[in-house]
Amino acid sequence: MSDSIDHGRRGLLAFGLLAAAGWREPGGAWSASAVGPAVPLSELDYGQVHLSAGPLERQARENHRLVLGLDEDALLRPFRLRAAQRAPGHELGGWYDTYAFAPGATFGQWMSALSRYYAITGDAPTRAKVQRLVAAYAATVDSRGSFYHRNRFPSYTYDKLVGGLLDAERLGRDNTAHATLARTTRAAVAYLPPRAMPRNEHAQSGEDFSRHAWDESYTLPENQFQAWALTGERIHLELGRRFLYDEFFGSLARGDNALPGKHAYSHVNALSSAAQAYLSLGNPMHLAAAQQGFEMISAQSFATGGWGPDEHFVTPGSGALGASLADQSKSFETPCGAYAHFKLTRYLLRITRDSRYGDSMERVLYNTVLGAIPIQPDGHAFYYSDYTRQAKKTFHPDRWPCCSGTLPMIAADYAISTCFTDSRGLYVNLYVPAQISWTQNNARCGLSIETDYPFAAGINMTLRLPTPQFFTLNLRIPAWAQGAALSINGKREPQPQPGQFAALPREWHSGDRVELELPDARRLESVDAAHSDTVALLAGPLVLMRLIDAGSAPSPIQRASLLSAQRDRNGGHEWQAKSDAGAVKLRPFLDIEGEAYCAYQTVLPAEVL
Ligand SMILES: [Zn+2]
Repeated sequence: MSDSIDHGRRGLLAFGLLAAAGWREPGGAWSASAVGPAVPLSELDYGQVHLSAGPLERQARENHRLVLGLDEDALLRPFRLRAAQRAPGHELGGWYDTYAFAPGATFGQWMSALSRYYAITGDAPTRAKVQRLVAAYAATVDSRGSFYHRNRFPSYTYDKLVGGLLDAERLGRDNTAHATLARTTRAAVAYLPPRAMPRNEHAQSGEDFSRHAWDESYTLPENQFQAWALTGERIHLELGRRFLYDEFFGSLARGDNALPGKHAYSHVNALSSAAQAYLSLGNPMHLAAAQQGFEMISAQSFATGGWGPDEHFVTPGSGALGASLADQSKSFETPCGAYAHFKLTRYLLRITRDSRYGDSMERVLYNTVLGAIPIQPDGHAFYYSDYTRQAKKTFHPDRWPCCSGTLPMIAADYAISTCFTDSRGLYVNLYVPAQISWTQNNARCGLSIETDYPFAAGINMTLRLPTPQFFTLNLRIPAWAQGAALSINGKREPQPQPGQFAALPREWHSGDRVELELPDARRLESVDAAHSDTVALLAGPLVLMRLIDAGSAPSPIQRASLLSAQRDRNGGHEWQAKSDAGAVKLRPFLDIEGEAYCAYQTVLPAEVL
């Protein structure tokens, strides 16, 4: 296996990436054409980050418990029955049942989630469940690919299985998973389309799924390139290349916005295939596509960081984003969208070291996925964030709908999104209470982060080192953080520059303390240029949403009143602003439960002041 990882590295060397270094100009524009340094930052292992008590740790723990409790016979039933095998037990219920919308499509995602939680916790029952699922699934795979016959999502489901089996091998320590991956690929390959197909255009010959053919073959390369790196099997390199959506990527790389009208989540997911293709094959066009695509998405994002009302991209500058607030309650497909957004921003942050990808990830974290209602054991799940003027958090009406596969994966991925490393030091990306361990100069080093950020400005970090070590500690200073302050062992450092990583190279000693203050910078953001009076209030990375009485329209408010909203004196997660109609209460998305709320408010014209 280690041989095959080297195989991927040889690929990088062969394509000359190591010579292609370049840094963004300090303070320079968010440049889509900037070429990143040759060697991307490394992710930490899942087990190297232990989240301490807080909302991220709670969401990860809830989702670990959920996937550990899933009924195995129910998960396996679509695979057993479609292979004409005996299938004890019952259907899970919902979208992924044997003959339902997308049979078994979340199985691979839940294998991934279980493997990731095992890597985080070392919990033996979690690993045992991974092993049972891999073995029982393997027993259903036949060379004819019966599972894929009359299945409208062959690419989607195969892709999730590849991801699940890779994670079972890499993280769940199941040494049978790679053989099962090889059999899975042989079974699926005849059912895959000839190339990356646009949504709605792929139907199997003789099978009329044209009305439902929402398969997502353009998301395949990411896992295929990873499978190639892990196994060295050439079929994965070939499939990775075959499904590169170069027609789409080429448009983005040229600066043509090919996004409007396209399905949002799956095309953001496809950009991770572009980023992984850049790392595996070295074509700068793929990096440019991922960066330009990200920029085009940012230009049509809500203040929360979410995008894609009714699951589709709009045309930036058209006013369509603001118009969607009137009646489109499917504002952002939250767990799936956040999962794709985290993956893409991890790739781009690692490749370019541009801290603003971390800013974007942080917005999506606090304002969308961290506020998702937990999935219930019966499969009721949170699907869309709602940004209309009369919103409430709700479950999707169906059990086990889309997004029930991605929420357990993204909550596990908080661990690997927190910090990154290179040979020279550590990059801290998310300021969350955690114990981090990493290897620096062959020494096992530790960093503890204690904070109530973003509800408090102060972030306290303490190093634990076996002996003094020279390295660079890099701290993400969000672009909004004017007035940020930094101290080492109580001594004030020069003011850090927002929109960059603050680099602190020095000989560090065990017990050294780093204190970062990120003030909760207040600002208003319009939903789009055509709706300049429709604004969201931000405090640091948080969108403060207005609580409203159900059935009543929120009254317009002065800009200055919103900007001077006062935090609850007792330290609660609630703010108050004064309006002509009385006090207005505001809360971040993660602290809203059953209350009616609105993310955007109408501000009064300035001349009324
Ligand atoms: Zn979804």
